[in-house]
Amino acid sequence: SAAARDRLRIAIQKSGRLAEPARALLAACGLSWRESRDRLFCYGETLPVDLLLVRDDDIPGLIADGVCDLGVVGRNVLLEQDGDRRSNGRESAFREWRALGFGGCRLALAVPEAWHWEGPQQLAGKRIATSYPALLSQWLAGEGVDAQVVLLSGSVEIAPRLGQAEAICDLVSSGATLSANQLKPVQTLIESEAVLAGPAGGFDDVRGELADLLLRRLDGALRVRN
Ligand code: ATP
Ligand code: ZN
Repeated sequence: SAAARDRLRIAIQKSGRLAEPARALLAACGLSWRESRDRLFCYGETLPVDLLLVRDDDIPGLIADGVCDLGVVGRNVLLEQDGDRRSNGRESAFREWRALGFGGCRLALAVPEAWHWEGPQQLAGKRIATSYPALLSQWLAGEGVDAQVVLLSGSVEIAPRLGQAEAICDLVSSGATLSANQLKPVQTLIESEAVLAGPAGGFDDVRGELADLLLRRLDGALRVRN
């Protein structure tokens, strides 16, 4: 919007894996909020830093559109949406400002357990199911492999059993979901964790000072934890 803002707005996941740890980390930075009735917006009390509670997938776009100033989101989501923008000829509108040390997982390629894995070329002509088409396509292009990317929004790990794909590219933490579906991870595309995301540039009003203050406190809180 055209109006300069004098409060900082941070988007975090409303519910899910990153919701509680994100709030706890921001609270450890000395922030506190007045709970709102609709539980979508939390008004900052100790500092002019407000929270917007949203779906994680919406966070990069909210930053790109200037609706939010910062966000806590998985690196996997941030890189996928940046890759999507760039493959459509748009410039980066957001970037990782800090790695936050929670929500660790990796974006991995998995194939049926029965396969004897010989390397990326084995995927030539195969179908690979994923919710991360930009990152998978980038990786395939880098490896010089011509495979078909099958976009699924969820339940990617059952695609091979359903005959929709031969392999998958999905988030893995323990690997239990993969082995429950007779799949094995063979290649890591991205090591991910929750990150503080912000605009590719900076802020040209009082939000810049607020963001600097928040980053100093965040770095202190992260040092105490790690
Ligand atoms: P939303 O309703 O906000 O869209 P979601 O279902 O997309 O939620 P979650 O499952 O809560 O999201 O995951 C959020 C983030 O947690 C992921 O993008 C990823 O960065 C991280 N994460 C860590 N471990 C895992 C895992 N085993 N599976 C999926 N995501 C993981
Ligand atoms: Zn999501």
